[in-house]
Amino acid sequence: MKRLVFLGPPGAGKGTFAGLFAERFGTVHISTGDILRAEIKAGSRLGIAARQCVDSGELVPDEVIVGIVDHRLGEPDVAGHGFILDGFPRTVRQAELLEEALKTCGWELDAVVLFAADRDLLIRRLTARRLCQGCGKVYNVLYDPPCAEGICHCGEPLYQRPDDSRETALGRLEVYQRQTSPLIDFYRSRGLLKTVDSAGEKSAVMAGLCRVLGVE
Ligand code: AMP
Repeated sequence: MKRLVFLGPPGAGKGTFAGLFAERFGTVHISTGDILRAEIKAGSRLGIAARQCVDSGELVPDEVIVGIVDHRLGEPDVAGHGFILDGFPRTVRQAELLEEALKTCGWELDAVVLFAADRDLLIRRLTARRLCQGCGKVYNVLYDPPCAEGICHCGEPLYQRPDDSRETALGRLEVYQRQTSPLIDFYRSRGLLKTVDSAGEKSAVMAGLCRVLGVE
């Protein structure tokens, strides 16, 4: 059972590989972005409060997001199966609060995986990303297009996340650089950081991920 953080810029593949890893090893995939988008879709009070930050690519306040993660980590599936935190922490403050929360449970992280890719590839991936309105499946119109243009295999239409527009994607990369990239040194100094090159084919990236985590 693993307790992991997936770190990296938007478009590096954290969500994709967290999903694949979770499916293969039964680990619980916790994506703070997915939780926020679900709250926005449901029109909850949290969703209404978070919407502007999410759509503009800015970060939701640390206390809000830490509250969400704390709550999710307390659910029973996590104790039994471990977790992958995808998109959290995103600031040093969040990482410090996560350390405290894990300590309270008597848990420690096994590893923090940094997904690395160059900036041009990240921009290409983000702006070509489409999601299904129904099942949430993620496509890329350049590398992994749907069979029928604009339609998921489940029959529902695809849409582009508002924060995947070119302008907002550039802003998100800048937010990552400024607020999240200091976590690389934070986790390196704790001996937890493992790096995976996420530029290649899915199977090669997955093999690299399994290798750095010592699983098959
Ligand atoms: P993601 O799906 O991980 O790219 O997240 C989408 C958006 O949700 C981000 O651009 C932020 O607005 C918000 N978000 C997700 N995770 C966090 C976090 N750990 N801290 C603050 N905001 C977050």
